[in-house]
Amino acid sequence: MPDLLLRGGRVLDPSQSLDATLDVLIRGGRIVAIAPDLLDHPEARGVGVVDVSRRVVTPGLVDLHVHFREPGQTSKENIETGALCAARGGFTSVVCMPNTRPAIDDPAAVGLVKDRAQARACVRVFVAGAITKDIAGEELAPLGSLHRAGVVAITDDGKCIQNTDVMRRALEYARMYDLKVMDHCQDYDLVSEGVMHEGYWSTALELRGWPAVGEDSIVARNVILARMTGTHIHCQHISSRRSVNLIRKARAEGVPISGEACPHHYVLTDAAVAGSEAFWKEDGLSLYSAGLMPEGQRPIWPSYDTNFKMNPPLRSADDRAAVVEGLRDGTLDILASDHAPHCNYEKDVEFDFAPFGILGLETQLALALTELVHPGHLSLARVVELYSSRPATLLPLVATETGTRLGRLEVGGPADVTVIDPDLEWTYDVTKTASKSANSPFHLWRLKGKAVATLCRGSVVWSEVEGLAGPGV
Ligand SMILES: [Zn+2]
Repeated sequence: MPDLLLRGGRVLDPSQSLDATLDVLIRGGRIVAIAPDLLDHPEARGVGVVDVSRRVVTPGLVDLHVHFREPGQTSKENIETGALCAARGGFTSVVCMPNTRPAIDDPAAVGLVKDRAQARACVRVFVAGAITKDIAGEELAPLGSLHRAGVVAITDDGKCIQNTDVMRRALEYARMYDLKVMDHCQDYDLVSEGVMHEGYWSTALELRGWPAVGEDSIVARNVILARMTGTHIHCQHISSRRSVNLIRKARAEGVPISGEACPHHYVLTDAAVAGSEAFWKEDGLSLYSAGLMPEGQRPIWPSYDTNFKMNPPLRSADDRAAVVEGLRDGTLDILASDHAPHCNYEKDVEFDFAPFGILGLETQLALALTELVHPGHLSLARVVELYSSRPATLLPLVATETGTRLGRLEVGGPADVTVIDPDLEWTYDVTKTASKSANSPFHLWRLKGKAVATLCRGSVVWSEVEGLAGPGV
């Protein structure tokens, strides 16, 4: 790993209210100094000097919600390729969901993922364990053993525990081990066989509807259980107005609950399933991206494009606005990708039969900059906070080699650093993805803002910056 002086960047670490033009000196994989003009610092002798002026230097970004498909479904993705996607997107820490084959529901599976990550991943890979055995929602997984094996949270993500008593017991045990519980909120009775948001477009397209209330009812249950047990519940990928409202009210009353937003839910709407013409006409006009992609240059999607099928589904323009409002007022204080790769042959089928999920790691920061920061919904500092200190504190996530909390820039802490060019205009081309899959709805989207370099433990794991050698375009 190179010893480096990142010179003259706007250093932004919201956890310390740090926002100033500073140098960052890195030696031996750790941050040695953060101060103005460090060229004459005694430890700066012989280090590589990299000009990052006009760029933003932030803590290495953190994503609490990714699917790397290992073990068992490595034709979609594996830990090595998933980590490469993270590095390209500016992320140095990710939390893998346990819905692999087999599920990560015992210490052996946790050990396997950790070993593979250590051998092959270029970023930090943390593991979430399952709440129930085989994510079947019936019998609790050995939560104490999972805790000792090093999981950072538990979740049945992809599925949702329907039995409220099982969820209650899980929360009570989680409290004993101080484990955070994350939940994918979906009431099976209400959602049934739904494949897209229930509304005008599901009717027009004759697809089975997945109503917003199928999410809301479980969020409401979680509010009640979090209040009763005192255990924190983190509601994953919140997509509906009522869910946002429920979490807002509960937090105001002191209930230990939080919510997360994914890019597709604050960028797209259910009209996208009807094809690009419907989307750009009906819902696309408020998008900043629309201005970057004038009519005639916007990507064309056919109706029933399965890259717009995810769970929970794309919802109405009103729900989309509510997610943005939730991010603005702090109701939702985690951003995550729900990076969910699927092979072409799996997605290239009728909408009903395609699996739910899309890629996200390479585009999520750029989408946040394009659709939240540039239109003025959130400040750049707030987006950095939602991608660094907030998620790293929620679980919490710690660098084993230094024993320090991740998601912050700290002297003595690990050199997990992301360099962002917030104004760089670029086009996402999924044919050049690091992923094994290509299921992104954002192919050929013009975006504004990008991670141009990513350092993890001092190693350059992604770089488009002149004078900073590393894997890059
Ligand atoms: Zn999920």
